Amino acid sequence: MSSAELERVGARIVSCCRCPRLVAWRAAAASRAPVRFAGQDYWARPVPGFGDPRARIFVLGLATAAHGGNRTGRAFTGNPSAGLLMRALHRAGLADRPSSEHAGDGLRLHRTWLASAVRCPPPADRPTPLERDNCLPYLSAEVAALEDLRVIVCLGGFAWRAALRWAGVRPQPKFAHGGAHRLDGGLTLLGSYHPSPRNVHTGLLTEPMLDDVFGRARALAGLA
Ligand code: SF4
Repeated sequence: MSSAELERVGARIVSCCRCPRLVAWRAAAASRAPVRFAGQDYWARPVPGFGDPRARIFVLGLATAAHGGNRTGRAFTGNPSAGLLMRALHRAGLADRPSSEHAGDGLRLHRTWLASAVRCPPPADRPTPLERDNCLPYLSAEVAALEDLRVIVCLGGFAWRAALRWAGVRPQPKFAHGGAHRLDGGLTLLGSYHPSPRNVHTGLLTEPMLDDVFGRARALAGLA
């Protein structure tokens, strides 16, 4: 059953040390917490996916945030990007609350799974191509375990290209907000601008735009 397999995959992810640079960086981030997180025990290990084992929608981010998931142990938790994403998932009926604060906060996702293409935090949010490729088998393993999956929402160009590389699509269709690509196996990739503070502050991404993406994801997933 997928829940047991997801737990096995999660255990493999948590113990991974394949990328020496990122192993060092996740520990370094934990040792210099910003004042607002001072005194907190950081997770400082790779972050497995989180959500509903019956997920039809996989939300794929770029990489674990140094003071978000690397602190809490849960993807898209406790930083501004997570806040915007969680509010959108809640409005779309895919989360039972509009925030994700820490691993024990009781958050439940509905038919949705959250993970990043790279499970450790990279310096400047820029994983190398080798680090991306090292981590793609974990995307593969989680997708295989999520038996009901229909859609992967790729947050930003990095996640879009990582998903296409994982799927072996060549040439790769260009990333576009709202752009979609149907894979041979039946899954649909759906592109969205990443909900980063920068994209929001510059007006590139608005909450209504994110709502449109998740409305479309719901329709593609047969949840509309
Ligand atoms: S980024 Fe992925 S492959 Fe690299 S050490 Fe972290 S979990 Fe392992």
